[in-house]
Amino acid sequence: MGQESADESSAETWSNWSGSVSFEPDEILEPADEEELREIVSACAEAGRTVRVAGAGHSWTPVVETEDVVVSLANMTGVVDHDEDAKTATLYAGTTLEEAGTKLHDRDLAFPNLGDVSMQTVAGAFGTGTHGTGPTFENLSGSLVGGRMVTGTGDVREFDAENDPDLLRAAQLSLGTLGIFTEVELDLQTTYKIQRREYCTNWRECRGHIPTLIEENRNFDFYWYPRSDEVKLRLLNAPGGGTDHNDLAYATLVEDQTGWWQETIPEHDDIGREFDEMEYALPFEDGLECFERVRERVREHWRADVGWRLLVRTVAADDAFLSTEYDRQTMTISCIQNAELEHWPYFEDIEPIFREYEGRPHWGKKHTLRAPELQELYPEWDRFQEIRRELDPDGVFLSEYLEDLLEAESDDPASERQLATERTEPGRSRDESGGDEP
Ligand SMILES: Cc1cc2nc3c(=O)[nH]c(=O)nc-3n(C[C@H](O)[C@H](O)[C@H](O)COP(=O)(O)OP(=O)(O)OC[C@H]3O[C@@H](n4cnc5c(N)ncnc54)[C@H](O)[C@@H]3O)c2cc1C
Repeated sequence: MGQESADESSAETWSNWSGSVSFEPDEILEPADEEELREIVSACAEAGRTVRVAGAGHSWTPVVETEDVVVSLANMTGVVDHDEDAKTATLYAGTTLEEAGTKLHDRDLAFPNLGDVSMQTVAGAFGTGTHGTGPTFENLSGSLVGGRMVTGTGDVREFDAENDPDLLRAAQLSLGTLGIFTEVELDLQTTYKIQRREYCTNWRECRGHIPTLIEENRNFDFYWYPRSDEVKLRLLNAPGGGTDHNDLAYATLVEDQTGWWQETIPEHDDIGREFDEMEYALPFEDGLECFERVRERVREHWRADVGWRLLVRTVAADDAFLSTEYDRQTMTISCIQNAELEHWPYFEDIEPIFREYEGRPHWGKKHTLRAPELQELYPEWDRFQEIRRELDPDGVFLSEYLEDLLEAESDDPASERQLATERTEPGRSRDESGGDEP
């Protein structure tokens, strides 16, 4: 996607999906294989150049941005091998979740869960802790049990859960700063069918039912629409499972379809126009209270400017060092804004509410935190940095943005640069919003 966007405008420009991150690196390279990738990283290490690996460019933070070299693994896709009995598979790291879904299903295998879309690459999705919803499902990187990466010295490092448990916990969510994964080994399950039901209601009617809906359904989340105060409830279950339809008398059924997991968990309808997003991961027990406060603030101050919905999901706790769910059961809240409209004034107004609850920002979605604030939120922050410095001693993977994000002592914050770039986008009027999203 990033590469496609780049090709559309000029050979030198790289843009993320929404267009809110755009830059011109010296080179955008697509190595044919691991050996060619090794040569690129070694040459950059020797020349003191930075290398950032891109997935599908679906992050809203400038995690791929660099003046030097962007690498895409668009040529390194597909299944390396699989074991149907052990329910494991190894994929090339540039494989998209969509391609992985089809190819794993053909082999009777499946991810336990997915997020809202499947255009991301597998390694890119792990790289920022992409998640779906459901209180018993970790973010997608919970499936990672081993793999291969090209480290900052240009060496190939293999790792697995048994021999390198700490490296695995660091690698699960590592923003391309430990190494560039070339292969990822996954712990999976047998392929399965899912029934998706969607109901429309409003906040007053459904508010009291949310805890039960979370408890009774495999995957439950809801969209809240600021302008109308309406709510869409989404319930995904094994066919016939979950909350009984008769117990949802306060809501109207608008969709009921059953299909294989890879076709049914992500939304395959056209998303419509592009948007930008901020999402925070909150302690589960504070999530609904926090949402009530965000809802109030949005209704008081942002109703006219924000037509797009907010999304509330749940994620299971895990032990990956930089996981937004590290050691805590989580509820996430996303604020979404039309990509043609200003997002920072809205996001910066809501962000302090999330921070009051010790919210952790999604690594791939807009936020303003940098290393000094982030390190307070992650108990194993130092252990992660130790491993990162070991694998990338010269900081080949550390762009200015990543340095500000991960090196607390950095004295040249890129945060203002980033915000300045993003804020200088052409002025946009609220009249252009196009109204509520469907
Ligand atoms: C329309 C849309 C819907 C979304 N839905 C969800 C959702 O439901 N849930 C959710 O949590 N997020 C969601 N996101 C966010 C998205 O899943 C994450 O930002 C994800 O990281 C993007 O993956 P990507 O392949 O595009 O990687 P990129 O955004 O290109 O890169 C992400 C990170 O991964 C690193 N990386 C990429 N490839 C490798 C590699 N081979 N080795 C090591 N590091 C690598 C990059 O360096 C970077 O740090 C959504 C985004 C969009 C645009």
